[in-house]
Amino acid sequence: MDVELVTVGTELLLGFTLDTNAAELARALAGVGVRVARRVSVGDDEAEIRSAVAGALERTGFVVLTGGLGPTSDDVTKRAVAALFDAPLELDEAYLAQMERRFRSFRRGSVPASNRSQAEIPRGADVLPNPRGTAPGLWLSGGPGTAVMLPGVPHEMRGLLEEQVLPRVAALLSERGEVPTTRSRTLRTTGITESGLQDALGALEASLAPVRLAYLPQGIGVDLRLTVWGLPHAAAERELTRAVEALLPALGRHFYGEGEADLAAVVLDRLAARGWTLAVAESCTGGMIGARITAIAGSSRVFRGGVICYADESKVRDLGVPEALIRSEGAVSEQVARAMAAGVARRFGTEASVAVTGIAGPSGGSEEKPVGTVWIAVRAGEQERALGRRFPGGRREVRRRSTQAALDLLRRLVEG
Ligand code: AMP
Ligand code: MG
Repeated sequence: MDVELVTVGTELLLGFTLDTNAAELARALAGVGVRVARRVSVGDDEAEIRSAVAGALERTGFVVLTGGLGPTSDDVTKRAVAALFDAPLELDEAYLAQMERRFRSFRRGSVPASNRSQAEIPRGADVLPNPRGTAPGLWLSGGPGTAVMLPGVPHEMRGLLEEQVLPRVAALLSERGEVPTTRSRTLRTTGITESGLQDALGALEASLAPVRLAYLPQGIGVDLRLTVWGLPHAAAERELTRAVEALLPALGRHFYGEGEADLAAVVLDRLAARGWTLAVAESCTGGMIGARITAIAGSSRVFRGGVICYADESKVRDLGVPEALIRSEGAVSEQVARAMAAGVARRFGTEASVAVTGIAGPSGGSEEKPVGTVWIAVRAGEQERALGRRFPGGRREVRRRSTQAALDLLRRLVEG
């Protein structure tokens, strides 16, 4: 079963309001086995709404709308859709009475004239009660198909979705004999670009069917989402497992976990398994690595502490980096990164350490070492490794990417 989404609101087109309703609807519908084939936003304009809904119904026969059900003159969704279904608006006395009770219970007197319009229901529509607000949801089926109208206010929309829409959709699917499942798995990668992944996996993609692959770049890595629609639960799981087994060898060391896996947590697990402790020496990341690590509950069994050695003097005084080394190689260099990693491990008495020094910008770059130049050094047990990178992006991205790359280099070293 395919559906289309139409979110209504001029504020969405102006970019003042993020269209969270569409994302939420899409996720929830996918969860019960419905494919969202297309989504579109239109302004508070009757003709625009009508044409978007007409197109959606022509293609899929099923459209879900949010927004434009309020009491004010810019709320025209109901009128636009009712006209398309040739369903005149009729005052629903029972709903009006319910609104009266609601207004009285909030001591707001009687229902204002503008709110009365919310009790006008297209003939033949089912009213979906909305205990969180005054605009009910509407489920209208007829000649052109089915249109479900939900309020724009996100928590009202969500309530109606969970309590009214999803159960009805699931019932529809089982009536039609369609199996209401959509199953996904997510493989997380880092250290490889989206196009690099595409090159590595492109040849495999066709063989994964019916599993579909989506590349989701996150700035500090690319998530691969594998999705199967419309198979029975067990078969879907089997297909996903088969796809994961086909993909993992191609992903190699870039893969670090599934689902919501956090790279910092993975690093901590690997270190804990060896009984190793960790210290960090951070220059351009200013504590971001420590923050990622300590965000993980239980990090204290591995993490000892660190030094934010932002100034050259701190690298010398606090970590014992030779001053001459900074002078000859520069603070952003492989040698200094290695000396920082060695110094902090010595200082905290840890088996493992990670050090980062770089130029986050926007100033401080040179021809030889432009903004984004970062050196990372890691130690674990007897091993040591350093990596020079040149990250794209502004200060924020450079620091975020440096943090992730540092954690990743340590993971790879500890994994052996
Ligand atoms: P409406 O039902 O059109 O009167 O919308 C009420 C409020 O809900 C608006 O002022 C927006 O702040 C919010 N809203 C409307 N549509 C959306 C949407 N698609 N995503 C998130 N918020 C929305
Ligand atoms: Mg609106």
